[in-house]
Amino acid sequence: MEEKRKLICDKCKAQMEELKVEFRYLNRSFSHKVPRCPVCGQVYISENLALGRIKEVELNLEEK
Ligand SMILES: [Zn+2]
Repeated sequence: MEEKRKLICDKCKAQMEELKVEFRYLNRSFSHKVPRCPVCGQVYISENLALGRIKEVELNLEEK
């Protein structure tokens, strides 16, 4: 089990931190941990969560 992969932001060369993000889809919400750059705030979404498949998803970033 390798859940913690260290990702580096392309722009900032900063190490991304895990952040819990809440998704909403068809009146359901669920949360998932995604890596986020602490400098520019870019969120890395894996292909498992590809937004192309879920058109009406809302991302709500939970700040701390
Ligand atoms: Zn960045």
